[in-house]
Amino acid sequence: MKIAVLSGGVGGARFLRGLREHLRQTMPDGSGGSTAEVTAVVNTGDDMWLSALRIAPDLDSITYTLAGESDEERGWGRVGETERVSGELRAYDIGWPWFTLGDLDIGTHLARTSMLRDGLTLAEATDRITSRWPLGVHLIPATNDEVETHVVTEDGTDLHFQEWWTRHRATLPAARFVQRNVEAAAPAPGVVESIMNADVVLLAPSNPVVSIGTILGIPGIRAALRATRAPVVGVSPIIGGAVVRGMADACLSAIGVETAADAVALHYGSRAAGGVLDAWLLAEEDADLAPTVEAAGIRSTAVPLWMRDIPTSAALAAAALAAAS
Ligand code: GDP
Ligand code: CA
Repeated sequence: MKIAVLSGGVGGARFLRGLREHLRQTMPDGSGGSTAEVTAVVNTGDDMWLSALRIAPDLDSITYTLAGESDEERGWGRVGETERVSGELRAYDIGWPWFTLGDLDIGTHLARTSMLRDGLTLAEATDRITSRWPLGVHLIPATNDEVETHVVTEDGTDLHFQEWWTRHRATLPAARFVQRNVEAAAPAPGVVESIMNADVVLLAPSNPVVSIGTILGIPGIRAALRATRAPVVGVSPIIGGAVVRGMADACLSAIGVETAADAVALHYGSRAAGGVLDAWLLAEEDADLAPTVEAAGIRSTAVPLWMRDIPTSAALAAAALAAAS
């Protein structure tokens, strides 16, 4: 079985870890892995150049989580991290003082930057970085091109998404999101193929605007989702009218979408009506919203949506695969 997953960082990483666990249990390959092939198409809109380094937060969040190297308590970055290099950079007034890079994390950024300077594409660099660990999931950046998300605030200020999100904690009212240079961008090799050749396509419970929305904005990816013969199943990142972790509600309100499981499903839309979804998983506490989603032509199932640990994440992945059939 071939599965393609569109994914952002932390929410996507937890979902992918659950999916890998579910597949190991139900389709074991006899040596601890699974016979299923999972390809994650990963958001690169949060990527940036900082302190001479190419940083790819969502690719790295997924890599560290699947490698068992992520800091579970803090919720991001490497476990056992130190921040000595960031202290030095701050002394030289280099980089962003409010954006601390851990030392181990800087190792990844140095490796990536070095590979890019040697002429590798981001996808090739990602293959090399991820080959260090048996992740059990093939990660492909949505695009090799630099398409960074910017936020234009209501007073007309333009800032990189990362500055709006991390420095200002998404408190500056956003008027719109801009994917810089997106018109000229192309999906990375393998992205469209993984969607077209999949048996199932899943939209992880990631930020609908700046993670999944950014991926869908790369020319050719939305068309692939519309054209694939595989069923497309989305998982709600909203539970009981609230974002589970983070500040994704600020992104949704900027594009005029209510922070509600049915509103996000309608925003993605039914494939029968020009959108990208065949089926949608929402939380049991949102079961009363299922009829609205069904009425829009999207099959809708209420299941436990909290990814508390690996077993609950695996159960969610199982429900997503069940919703596909
Ligand atoms: P980011 O790139 O690190 O912001 O991560 P993603 O875009 O992949 O995911 C962020 C979204 O994941 C948040 O908006 C949350 O709503 C969602 N999320 C986080 N934890 C959970 C969870 O346990 N269950 C569900 N359903 N969604 C979650
Ligand atoms: Ca992200």
